[in-house]
Amino acid sequence: MATYERLPESGIRVIVVGSGFAGLTAAIECHRKGHSVLLLDSFPELKILGDIISFAPNSGRIFQRWPGVDDKLDPIIHKSDGLTMKTWKGDTLFKQEWKHEEGSYGKAYNGHRGEIHEIVYQHALDIGVDIRLSHKVEDYFETETEAGVIANGERFVGDVVLAADGVRSKGRTIVLGYEDKPKSSGYAIYRTWFDSAKIAEDPEISWMVTNGDKHCAWLGPDIHFIAASVKNGKDFSWVCTHKDEADVKESWQAHAPLADARKVLAGWDPMVQKILDATPDPLIDWKLVYREPLPTWISPKKRIALIGDAAHPFLPTSIQGASQAMEDGATLGVCLSRCGKANIKEGIAAFEALRYERVRAAQKTGETTRDTWHKADWDEVKKNPDSMKLKREEWLLNFDAEDYAEKNYAATVALLNDTGAGREFNVPKMTVIAASA
Ligand SMILES: Cc1cc2nc3c(=O)[nH]c(=O)nc-3n(C[C@H](O)[C@H](O)[C@H](O)COP(=O)(O)OP(=O)(O)OC[C@H]3O[C@@H](n4cnc5c(N)ncnc54)[C@H](O)[C@@H]3O)c2cc1C
Repeated sequence: MATYERLPESGIRVIVVGSGFAGLTAAIECHRKGHSVLLLDSFPELKILGDIISFAPNSGRIFQRWPGVDDKLDPIIHKSDGLTMKTWKGDTLFKQEWKHEEGSYGKAYNGHRGEIHEIVYQHALDIGVDIRLSHKVEDYFETETEAGVIANGERFVGDVVLAADGVRSKGRTIVLGYEDKPKSSGYAIYRTWFDSAKIAEDPEISWMVTNGDKHCAWLGPDIHFIAASVKNGKDFSWVCTHKDEADVKESWQAHAPLADARKVLAGWDPMVQKILDATPDPLIDWKLVYREPLPTWISPKKRIALIGDAAHPFLPTSIQGASQAMEDGATLGVCLSRCGKANIKEGIAAFEALRYERVRAAQKTGETTRDTWHKADWDEVKKNPDSMKLKREEWLLNFDAEDYAEKNYAATVALLNDTGAGREFNVPKMTVIAASA
């Protein structure tokens, strides 16, 4: 591995629960900053799970700080020059070119979640993060001086616990003092990832997998369908967001027969039908879970913090869930190094204050895009196709979480102290970003 730079030991013991992108990033960034990290996950072994996932330039720059990671990610990520947007009937609205619009913000990493996850997981192991699988955390605790978890009947104690345990977080209960159940958002996503050989065989859709990667979206009434090829056209993935009222308690990631997607997409562009013909059966049907924004992400004694989806689930139309999860980790590494072992509460309060408004604004972009696409007035769209463009805003994408935390930590703590850190006052207005949501 290339040289790895690490700050001197801080003496801070961090326990991270969950090895998704929030937990792994927090673990790697805390390790980089000299903290000692123990990461627990209930999974018995690493598996290449999931399908397409997106990391925008705001999280891409975090990958780039980890030696050797970009070299490994680069060959497996999607590399088209833009997104072609069509109506459900097949009329092309426009092509949104990334290079011109956001090229200067940095590099995006879109690819197979499991493959990207494996590379990041391996990096965490390489730098020496203590990762223990088959450790299902059953309980959390905190005192004025320590925090910890119980996993497999064993007690693990540290200075701070980061609950990165995903959308069905258990850590949330201790932070909120009550159980916060997910609700259906009213939508679900059919998703799939497969070898593109059958797409390549069909002359009407082979353009999607030849001469490099392609990215194409079809928008229709309350449905959208997005297809992408990856690895120079070798792999193919599509997702289709559709109405769904099923109970999320039952199952939120189930298999669905391809026939279900055919029904939802009946009458759509013949090209979409051809893609369905080339798709293996069954699909994943991923329920889009909704939660009201949490009033706080930190525990009463400020030694446990929720991060990633545990704190703030995102709609996929924001294309920011994984990126914001990573920003949390990068911010925490800085906050803990700035507060030091004697002032953990200060660091945790500053973490929340630095992140809360930005994350809320990022979450809203998902709602805005979903409503723009799903509730469109199609006569208006014909007159102004650009109204359907994905908003790729600079405040969101051209952002460096580590740098922001370093520059704003002291002012944030001063503000928290001035206000007595009362919850309703402890979210300072951000100065660097200009959120429009
Ligand atoms: C298996 C899987 C597949 C996914 N596939 C996709 C995909 O294809 N596309 C996409 O856009 N997003 C996918 N996601 C979601 C996406 O990764 C997250 O929305 C985003 O990256 C934020 O990550 P996170 O770390 O906050 O949460 P997650 O990625 O959900 O990670 C949470 C982690 O916490 C662990 N955990 C949960 N409870 C406990 C417990 N009690 N004790 C110990 N560990 C626990 C879980 O095993 C998991 O590893 C997937 C998530 C998972 C877990």
